[in-house]
Amino acid sequence: MDCISRKAYAKINLGLDVLRRRPDGYHEVKMVMQTVNIWDLLTFKKTEEPGIFLKTDKEELPVGKDNLIYKAAAAIFEEYGLEAQASGAQASGRQAAEAKSPGCHKPGVEIALKKQIPIAAGMAGGSTDAAAVFHGLNELFGLGMSLQDMQRIGVRLGADIPYCLMGGTALAEGIGERLTALPPPPDCHLVIAKPDIDVSTKFVYENLHADTLKEHPDIDGMTQAIRGGSLAGITGRMGNVLETVTVRAYPVIDQIKKKMLERGAENALMSGSGPTVFGLFADKERAAGAAKEIEGAGLAGQVFVTGFYNPEKAAGA
Ligand code: ATP
Repeated sequence: MDCISRKAYAKINLGLDVLRRRPDGYHEVKMVMQTVNIWDLLTFKKTEEPGIFLKTDKEELPVGKDNLIYKAAAAIFEEYGLEAQASGAQASGRQAAEAKSPGCHKPGVEIALKKQIPIAAGMAGGSTDAAAVFHGLNELFGLGMSLQDMQRIGVRLGADIPYCLMGGTALAEGIGERLTALPPPPDCHLVIAKPDIDVSTKFVYENLHADTLKEHPDIDGMTQAIRGGSLAGITGRMGNVLETVTVRAYPVIDQIKKKMLERGAENALMSGSGPTVFGLFADKERAAGAAKEIEGAGLAGQVFVTGFYNPEKAAGA
């Protein structure tokens, strides 16, 4: 097989708590992660020329070493002795990489990205693409990596990557890499709205005062509600401490939340470091109505009506 495709699913956080800032600067978190049915498509093709060649349909994304896709592929090449070295970014959207030992034949790969997941949105777009590279190259080159192997290498590139490698519903602790799989929550309808602003995750964490937070979401209660299959138990406990920073900087987030609640959402919350807002709806018509109104009012440029995505459920469907 010389060419394969793989979907990379976006995530939302049903709950996000920050427990403390560690002396090394990382934050200790406790989050409920959930993949949703919005995805990027990555296509992997073996090439005669050795190296990593990345192209994308989004001009604003880097195609060289700064792209997490490139970083993931380079980490795998290095780990499996397929070493490739970047030869400098090219404006054409094709990043060439040359093998360190040009004499012997090294495999190469072309990766094409079709991007649908909003960028810099709090939906782990880059991390999930990187996770898809692990799965994709594992299959394409028959590397025989286990999920644990991929997570061990992936965490060096980003704390969300180990979760993105497994997908579905999970409790994430530590810096996000300590994972406990949870059963899929009850089905519901999701409205996901990304206002036209880009939020830097670094800015949000730098401005968070974890030690002085007055309220913390009940993450343990939420995991119990998920295990018990209670949608009301989940929606009643949705909370994200990063809203204290991002909503203050960007009031449009609150306006979108309010609009979703007015239009019948069971609850609404910012995802990750934002600015994307999601609302959970029991009723499909109401979800569609809310999405239309948010888009019509110009509150968000990217609006989706979708649902949760759980790989085990999709496989059984
Ligand atoms: P998270 O939820 O993990 O904080 P995010 O959704 O906020 O992630 P991303 O979409 O991953 O943010 O993008 C953050 C930055 O990373 C962007 O500004 C972009 O330039 C860069 N980036 C690198 N590789 C990618 C990629 N494959 N897809 C999207 N962004 C990427």
